[in-house]
Amino acid sequence: MLKLNQHPTGRHFLQIPGPSPVPDRILRAMSLPTIDHRGPEFGVLGLQLVAGLQKVFQTRHPVAIYPASGTGAWEAALANTMSPGDLVLMYETGQFAALWQKMAARLGLKTEFIAEPGTCPATGLPASWRRGVDAALIAERLRADPGHQIKAVCVVHNETSTGVTSDIAAVRRAIDDARHPALLMVDTISGLASADYRHDEWGVDVAISGSQKGLMLPPGISFNALSPRALEVNKAAKLPRSFWAWDEIVEMNKTGYWPYTPSTNLLYGLHEALEMVLENGLAAVFARHQRWAAGVRAAVTAWGLPIQCADAAVYSPVLTGVVTPAGVDADAVRKLIHTRFDLSLGTGLGKVKGRMFRIGHLGDCNDLTLVATVAGCEMGLQLAGVKRAGSGVQALMDHFAEHPAPHTA
Ligand SMILES: *Cc1c(COP(=O)(O)O)cnc(C)c1O
Repeated sequence: MLKLNQHPTGRHFLQIPGPSPVPDRILRAMSLPTIDHRGPEFGVLGLQLVAGLQKVFQTRHPVAIYPASGTGAWEAALANTMSPGDLVLMYETGQFAALWQKMAARLGLKTEFIAEPGTCPATGLPASWRRGVDAALIAERLRADPGHQIKAVCVVHNETSTGVTSDIAAVRRAIDDARHPALLMVDTISGLASADYRHDEWGVDVAISGSQKGLMLPPGISFNALSPRALEVNKAAKLPRSFWAWDEIVEMNKTGYWPYTPSTNLLYGLHEALEMVLENGLAAVFARHQRWAAGVRAAVTAWGLPIQCADAAVYSPVLTGVVTPAGVDADAVRKLIHTRFDLSLGTGLGKVKGRMFRIGHLGDCNDLTLVATVAGCEMGLQLAGVKRAGSGVQALMDHFAEHPAPHTA
C-alpha cells in the first residue's frame, strides 16, 4: 500500500480496458445496506435485474448471473453444454481466445484453434491477432465435419487483448450455411454495453459477459445469456457442474431469487448501471464509444504509430492497441506513464507483450478525461524518446471539436 503522504492528489486515471472507471452514482448505489437475499424486497430487485439484462443482451431468453469474474461464466458456458471429450472449434483472435481454449482443454474437451497463418509484414505481429474472425475459415472447417463431431463454435466478440471486434452474425451464417448443429458461444465480456451485441437476432446460443467492462461496475459478477437450444442441449450435457448449473438458477430466477447467496451490493450497482445504460438507450451508448474510439485512433495516427487492429472494419469501440516502434518496450513506457502521471494503461498480453499497450475508452469517461489520457500517453512517449510524427492531443481535440457529442450539438 502507498503511505498516505505519498498518495497522489486527484482521481487516478484507470484507462485499462477493464476494470473501467466506475461512476460515482454506481458506487453510491452499492453503499446501501445489505439486505436479506431471501426477503421480500430482494425478489423485486432480482426480477428487475434479469429483465434489464435481457434488454442489454437484446434477448427474450434467460440470463444467469454468477457471483464470479468473467472466467467463471466462461466455465459455466462450457460445463452446462458439453460432455467429456467433446470437440469445440475456437478461433485465435488474441489472448482471451487463447485463455478460453486453455480452459476448455483443462475441462476435458478437445479443442481446435483456428488462426490466420503468418505474421504481419509491417510489424512482425501474429497475423490473426490483428484481425477479427474470418467466418469463411469456420465454414470450411464445419463443412469438413459431416459427422458433426464439433459440438460448439466459440468466438470472442471484442478481443480485449488487441482491440479487434468480430462479426458474430457472419459466424452464425457460416454455421447455418454448413447446416451444422454446433452451438454458437460468444465471449462478449468486454463487448456488452459498449459494442453492439444482439443475442437473439444473431442467433447466439450462449453469451458470456462480465461486470467490470462496459457495464461500468467493479469486478465480481458475470453472466450467461442463453438460447432455447442451449437450454435443451444442457439437459444431456455430461460435464460435472453444480455451482454453475443453469437449471436451478433459471428456475429460481423466475421469482427473483438465487439458489445461493448472490453478491447483493454488486447487484445494487448492476441495477444502477442498467438504469444508466437503458435511460440513454443502447444506440446512444454504442455511438458514444464509437466516437471516443475514433478520437483516440486519430491521436495514435497523428503519432504515426500503428494501431494493433489492422482492419478498419472491425476496430474496437472499447479500446485501442498502440504498437510501439521496434526496440521500444511498451511496458517500460506504460510504467513511466504510471509513475509520472498516475495513469494506468493496459499491458500487452501473451504474444504481443512488450510490443503494444492498450488505451481503454469505456466506462465513466468523457471528452476531457480522454484528452488527459492521450496527453499522459504523449508525455510518456516523449519521455521515453519515442519519435512521433505529430501531436495526438491536437488530433484528438480537433476530432472532438469537429464531432460534437449529440447531447451538446
Ligand atoms: C476481461 C475479459 C475476460 C476475463 O474476465 P475476468 O473477469 O478477468 O475473469 C475474458 N474475456 C474477455 C474478452 C475479457 O475482456
